[in-house]
Amino acid sequence: MFENLQGELRLNEALSKHTSWRVGGIAQRFYRPSNVEDLALFLSQLPAEEPLLWLGLGSNLLVRDGGFAGTVISTAGTLQNIDIKGQELTAEVGVYCGKLAKLAARSGLTGSAFLAGIPGTFGGALAMNAGAHQSEIWPLVSEVTTVDRHGVLRVRPAADFKVSYRHVEIPSDEWFASAKLSLEQGNAEQEALQIKELLKRRNVSQPTNQPCAGSVFRNPEGDFSGRLIEDLGLKGLRIGGASVSEKHANFIVNDGTALASDIEALILLVQQKVEQEEGVTLIPEVHIVGEAA
Ligand SMILES: Cc1cc2nc3c(=O)[nH]c(=O)nc-3n(C[C@H](O)[C@H](O)[C@H](O)COP(=O)(O)OP(=O)(O)OC[C@H]3O[C@@H](n4cnc5c(N)ncnc54)[C@H](O)[C@@H]3O)c2cc1C
Repeated sequence: MFENLQGELRLNEALSKHTSWRVGGIAQRFYRPSNVEDLALFLSQLPAEEPLLWLGLGSNLLVRDGGFAGTVISTAGTLQNIDIKGQELTAEVGVYCGKLAKLAARSGLTGSAFLAGIPGTFGGALAMNAGAHQSEIWPLVSEVTTVDRHGVLRVRPAADFKVSYRHVEIPSDEWFASAKLSLEQGNAEQEALQIKELLKRRNVSQPTNQPCAGSVFRNPEGDFSGRLIEDLGLKGLRIGGASVSEKHANFIVNDGTALASDIEALILLVQQKVEQEEGVTLIPEVHIVGEAA
């Protein structure tokens, strides 16, 4: 069915290997392009109705146990070109946020240090409007290149996207291929110190050594999901191998035996309890995809 491709196509790939929760069923097709042109060529050869799932490092994704009946486009470990000219940093979407932050810092640029501890790809950060320490990625974006399902590349100004807290409206059937950030001139040494400090803070407050997907729920306006969950005494609440982290109440951790269904059931249970007791509807930040087993 496919011709002249240079990337790697796998059939029946277990998505549990590609998500930070370490759960998720099988994808019928899993494609890791060798470069942006190869990605465009692959997309142009896919049937128009093929369901598509884009996957970075899977650090914000709950894939159900029945897997994904379609094609996964994997950008982790590929699409890693990065170029810094003056205060402009252009990167492809497979670049890891940590690497991007460190390279920008080394070039004496300031503004992207907050990305250092976000364990995802640049593409995932764009899709999620990732943020930390009072900063978000989209205020830095000047333009993006998208690719559509026919493999057509488009350069779009940041103003084409409606962006809000952990949410970006992307034209349907378009995904990010690369983007340009406008950073400010800073000082390489200070940036390196700031990154070190931010990473230290994270290790203290987050269960970074257990399979998880970061904050499960968005923070409600003027409050913190973690505070609401902790105040109800829900730390340690467990379904199967999934439990509310003892270290950070807005994290759900996998003890190594969890199914995606355990995690999803726990998300619903926490949501119900907070709704009943506090009258607040928590909205998941993590994206839940795929079929139940
Ligand atoms: C320990 C830990 C700490 C975390 N801390 C933070 C934090 O401080 N701040 C924060 O914002 N997040 C945090 N996260 C969540 C997560 O790392 C971010 O949301 C990250 O940006 C997701 O990147 P990813 O590559 O893993 O995306 P994935 O999880 O692979 O994908 C996330 C979504 O983006 C879509 N997507 C991926 N690539 C593309 C693309 N190229 N074009 C269009 N759509 C795409 C996917 O389809 C999916 O819907 C944390 C997670 C963990 C595990």
